[in-house]
Amino acid sequence: MGIIEKMRLDGKKGFVTGAARGIGKCTAAAFAEAGADVAIVDMDLETAESTAKEIAASTGRKIIALKCDVTDESQVQSMVDKVVAELGGLNFCHANAGICINEAADKMSYAQWLKVINVNLNSVFLTDTIAGRYMLSHGGGSIINTASMSAHIVNVPQPQCAYNASKAGVIQLTKSLAVEWAKRGVRVNSISPGYIGTDLTLSSEFLKPLIAKWNELSPVGRLGKPEELESICVYLAGDTSTFTTGADFSLDGAFTCF
Ligand code: NAD
Repeated sequence: MGIIEKMRLDGKKGFVTGAARGIGKCTAAAFAEAGADVAIVDMDLETAESTAKEIAASTGRKIIALKCDVTDESQVQSMVDKVVAELGGLNFCHANAGICINEAADKMSYAQWLKVINVNLNSVFLTDTIAGRYMLSHGGGSIINTASMSAHIVNVPQPQCAYNASKAGVIQLTKSLAVEWAKRGVRVNSISPGYIGTDLTLSSEFLKPLIAKWNELSPVGRLGKPEELESICVYLAGDTSTFTTGADFSLDGAFTCF
């Protein structure tokens, strides 16, 4: 069997959080194109449903939409239970839902801080451990977390201390789970994208004027596209990456090199 065949995800089942749009939609479509059945998990059910229809139509795979607020433990548990029941198992997941609040540290309220830490870090603990418990007792699996280049550098000029701290936490959580589960068949890795053109960046009136500055700071001089993150996620979800765990992959056009 050739390498491309070995990388396929035929027969695998997985879910992606924050998959109604943006990066999650793109990786969910890539997993399906590679042969997997996938649950589109998002708090925005209407968009998740239309995304699921679109991916099912283009790939012919079983794609379901599930409403879930990833900060709520009981919703995450029931989402994982539904994925297992409706898709027939769980081999991989991509914990990807995230938000950013751009506020100066000395003006940021504790509520704003908590919101970002809850959605970006506490939710990854919930998703990974609840999915992980199933995988540990059902033959193993692969977990992918979306961190960010903001885990490695402090973005300028916009202030975002909670986001940066939350994403650094995602990387240490990823490594901690990878070490704990390494001999038990569950791999845990993260991706650290640079600026990517999604609603998060392109639809924010605050961020839009900063894009020219980011491009100036970026060695490649442009934003990344969600599609430029998909092959690494297919690799991590599949069986050619069985020696890869506890790794963080920078996908940032060399932004963090200096
Ligand atoms: P996006 O805003 O386009 O999509 C995020 C999705 O997450 C939305 O569909 C939203 O409804 C969903 N979501 C938000 N909170 C949720 C919750 N509590 N429960 C369930 N779903 C929820 O964002 P994106 O750009 O696609 O970002 C996806 C991930 O990538 C995030 O973790 C983000 O921090 C990270 N990231 C983005 C960039 C970038 O430049 N866009 C760069 C690095 C990392």
